[in-house]
Amino acid sequence: MTQSPVWHPFTQHGLGDPVTLVTHSQGAALYTADGRRVIDAISSWWVTTHGHCNPRIMAAIAAQVQQLDQMIFAGWTHQPAEDLARELCRILPDALTRVFFSDSGSTAVEVALKMALGYWTHRGEKRDRIVVMDHSYHGDTIGAMSVGARGVFNAAYAPMLFDVGRVPFPGTDPQATLDVLEAECAAGAAAFIVEPLVLGAGGMLMYSPDILAEMRSVCARHGTLFIADEVMTGWGRTGTLTACEQAGVVPDIMCLSKGLTGGAVPLAVTMASEPIWEAHYSTDRTRTFYHSSSYTANPLACAAANANLAIWREEPVLERVAALGARQQVHLDGLSGHAMVRNARRCGTIAALELGDPDGSYLSDLGPRLLRRFREADLLLRPLGNTVYVMPPYCIDEPDLARIWAEIASAAEDLAAQ
Ligand SMILES: *Cc1c(COP(=O)(O)O)cnc(C)c1O
Repeated sequence: MTQSPVWHPFTQHGLGDPVTLVTHSQGAALYTADGRRVIDAISSWWVTTHGHCNPRIMAAIAAQVQQLDQMIFAGWTHQPAEDLARELCRILPDALTRVFFSDSGSTAVEVALKMALGYWTHRGEKRDRIVVMDHSYHGDTIGAMSVGARGVFNAAYAPMLFDVGRVPFPGTDPQATLDVLEAECAAGAAAFIVEPLVLGAGGMLMYSPDILAEMRSVCARHGTLFIADEVMTGWGRTGTLTACEQAGVVPDIMCLSKGLTGGAVPLAVTMASEPIWEAHYSTDRTRTFYHSSSYTANPLACAAANANLAIWREEPVLERVAALGARQQVHLDGLSGHAMVRNARRCGTIAALELGDPDGSYLSDLGPRLLRRFREADLLLRPLGNTVYVMPPYCIDEPDLARIWAEIASAAEDLAAQ
């Protein structure tokens, strides 16, 4: 067979790691061409919520395929998008009155940043500094990278990235976070963008709802727009529909993607509050919100999202999420005393811990070794450096979950024996 021309994301092809061919998926599992059943312990990079090939979502896409595939969304609309926007407004905080569609988490973030800058520009105020949290991840497009952590992932592109203010992660000294944020906001920051409760790609770093609420009030006091990037944390991951809900926080702008369609097809929304809309609403064309991508509000994707929302309305999703969280906690407790395990932690359905040496970084060789080990055990489990986390689809059964944790325990045992 000739070599594949496919260039994979976040993959160093020069290392020669195998690329697995998957033929189908069901529930919490992927099935490979060579006949293996692989447990999807990370929800296929955090997107799959109810499970792969959920019958209601698949049926909704199949039905939509008979009606309308794709159409321009500038000045034209369709029922799946209208229904979806209304339902999002109904289930999310009342203050989020406007829904802008795009197609990935990164674009939802770009849209949020453009809305924030447009807001200040159209109000005639010169506020253009964006403030972010250390260790954040908001996507891989230029604006999203600019507001994310800098490092090996984006060092080569540094000349394209814009400067931002940074507040420390609220670890042992949360007051320092609030103080730096206060200073940035007082100096006229335009917006603060943050991942609520859990910093995903930064290493599943978790902080309390209290801090989230306090950061929100600091921003409110100074008029700094508060952008919640719920791309990973939304749709039940942290135990509630959104992570902001646990802190009673209503952001000015909220980004949602990943689980919006149950993880079946790409779609994103940026939800905005009325003042942001009003700053753009005018008879003056220069105030138009100039953003679009060809597939904005693709009808098939909207149909999938509507099916996801029907599942949320009609099935006990939050009960499933709570039960999964409790099961995760039991497994986590079973390992938390282990000599090779540090910082065992959980937020909703997400459980994480650090394995092995205290100063392992993403590029330390423990990560790749673990990745190989998990792959050989037919587990899709992809550590972030030496941070191992389990974030499965909500439908995972106990034998599958136990198998994931048994392999993590066995990895910890092997490290201890070295
Ligand atoms: C994954 C992620 C993004 C980017 O979403 P894509 O769909 O991969 O572009 C943005 N923000 C957060 C918090 C994420 O976890």
